[in-house]
Amino acid sequence: MTERIKRIAAKLKDRYGEPRPKWPEDTLDVLVLTVLSQATTDANRDRAFQSFKEAFPTYDLVMAASDEEVARAIMSGGLAFQKAPRIRAILARLKEERGEYSLDFLASMDDEAAMDYLQSLPGIGPKSAACIMLFAFDRPIFPVDTHIHRVASRLELVTNNSTPEKTQAKLQSLVPPDLVYSFHLNLIEHGRQVCRAQSPRCDECILLDECPVHRDGALGSS
Ligand code: SF4
Repeated sequence: MTERIKRIAAKLKDRYGEPRPKWPEDTLDVLVLTVLSQATTDANRDRAFQSFKEAFPTYDLVMAASDEEVARAIMSGGLAFQKAPRIRAILARLKEERGEYSLDFLASMDDEAAMDYLQSLPGIGPKSAACIMLFAFDRPIFPVDTHIHRVASRLELVTNNSTPEKTQAKLQSLVPPDLVYSFHLNLIEHGRQVCRAQSPRCDECILLDECPVHRDGALGSS
């Protein structure tokens, strides 16, 4: 299966290119951006993050504000009244446990310990923790979102994949570390542009030869 993944990753790279990092340098900013990305689009996430940083240039200012004030600053990202207290609760915990607003201490932990810590924070599940590991710490942890779960399922890269969490655990063991970053981002791109949830554009799919679901006609004609 790993050889098949390498082949598919190469085709996706031919089609979508080598993704360029565009995440903040500060590791805690990456966590905030990840929380803001939950259940919204990249554009709304980025608008909310920019507004958040303009309103609160430091994390001390976030904690000096109220949940409602923070929610107003991130309104464009959706679910603001859930995300604002979540962000402030994470900051409060870091300050209490580590004495500062920083995630940099995770750099000295191994992958498993760092993933466990991140998932112990409010509102951080396996996908968000993997995103923070990949984008903030350059660790080869493979996040699975709804697009990747769908495309990987259709391509039958994983079996018994009833949830994105199960798909993530399986792909983590199958994707070679040097492919994690580009394969993750290019699979999302493929899911958005071609292998869409409704009406996948199979006729123009570069993975047509690799796709058992299409071959079996399980999706009908596109
Ligand atoms: S052939 Fe169709 S179902 Fe298969 S990966 Fe491509 S778009 Fe998705």
